Amino acid sequence: MEKKEKTEDQKNKDLMEKVVSLCKRRGFIFPGSEVYGGLAGTWDFGHFGVALKNNIKQSWWKKFVDSRKDMYGIDAAILMNSEVWVASGHVDGFQDPLVECKKCHHRFRADQIDLSKCPDCGGQLGETQQFNMMFGTYAGATQESGSKVYLRPETAQGIFVNFKNTVDAFHPKLPFGIAQIGKAFRNEIAPRDFIFRSREFEQMEIEYFIREEDWEKYFEYWKGEMFDWIEEVGIDMRKVHDTDIPKEDLAHYSKRTVDFEFDYPFGRKELFGLAYRTDFDLKNHKLDYLDEEKGDLPTGKAGKTVPHVIEPSLGVDRAVLAILLSAYSEDEKDGEIRSFLKLKPSIAPVICAVSPLLKNKPELVEYANTKVFAPLKAEFGRVIWDDNGNIGKRYRRQDEIGTPFCIVVDFDTLTDDTVTIRDRDTGKQERIQVSNLKEYIKEKI
Ligand SMILES: [Zn+2]
Repeated sequence: MEKKEKTEDQKNKDLMEKVVSLCKRRGFIFPGSEVYGGLAGTWDFGHFGVALKNNIKQSWWKKFVDSRKDMYGIDAAILMNSEVWVASGHVDGFQDPLVECKKCHHRFRADQIDLSKCPDCGGQLGETQQFNMMFGTYAGATQESGSKVYLRPETAQGIFVNFKNTVDAFHPKLPFGIAQIGKAFRNEIAPRDFIFRSREFEQMEIEYFIREEDWEKYFEYWKGEMFDWIEEVGIDMRKVHDTDIPKEDLAHYSKRTVDFEFDYPFGRKELFGLAYRTDFDLKNHKLDYLDEEKGDLPTGKAGKTVPHVIEPSLGVDRAVLAILLSAYSEDEKDGEIRSFLKLKPSIAPVICAVSPLLKNKPELVEYANTKVFAPLKAEFGRVIWDDNGNIGKRYRRQDEIGTPFCIVVDFDTLTDDTVTIRDRDTGKQERIQVSNLKEYIKEKI
């Protein structure tokens, strides 16, 4: 049989389309406000998308907060005093170059297109303008100056402005970190590539406070920690590349930044970032720290210092996308193409699905419900009941959700207390004792 080989470009386009379509079909991710024609740059997460996202966030929190002695959590408000964004430099400096087509009036990021003509209609482009990416709104009943507030464009400042509160409440010794997971908002000129660049997104950030002389050591340390986590959640390591941002392109406050890039179907682009932000932010907020181990400083002030900061910054949505793209797989079974998500069991929205072979046989349903589903649900939580359609259809559905195990209760179960357990990746089925189910699954996850 002759098959025309697809070009790499076409394959990539296909992969992206398949993942976006699977996400909608199986209830992971929907376009925002879809029944009203959508709202560009927003996405709604459905049942399995929320579950996947929660597992990712929990894995991050467990590794970087719960398992450490030197990390403090925070959940700061999204609305912050405007002065925060003046001090951080965002009011004056958080801008993207915007260019508008004179003919079709479509807007583009000037740094992302060829400026000789409009990419959409070929028309002439206007002058490049600077456009502030913060979403502004007003607090209170009137729109006078002073009531202007911004939805935070990054979670980092919520950490910096709570530096003193954290030090006063917990008396941490350097080095220590403050961690936060939360939403951030950017008025992107051109949101695109599914959840890669959206206007509302979620970040997982750490500000790790250190003494200046230790920055290189901790920079390398955090780079390693980030790679460990990236591997742990099942992002394809062959597609992850770390690149040092050249000196001339560094943000003015950073002495070193490493971008972790991923080979998305639409190109090699940023996944996560690691930055040495020096003492820029704490200085801007006029915050300092009494380093008791330092003794008298040349300034005459006993131990007063401004700690420096290493910032590992990760996007939840980009993690979701990279994990889905890494997990999406196809194989051929009985002449049919099967698509499945090879998610790690620790991250998968569902660990196992329980089915009675036939849903109109009360004795099977009763057994499956009370002796299999209920105890597994109590043990693992992420267990679902699936009696919709025939067994083949259920397997197909669970494969696409990324469920590692499907358990079926059949007529033999009623006499010998064994069930069929099927492995998502190999399709292999085993017959095991109901009493061994918990241990069997625990061993595999
Ligand atoms: Zn145009």
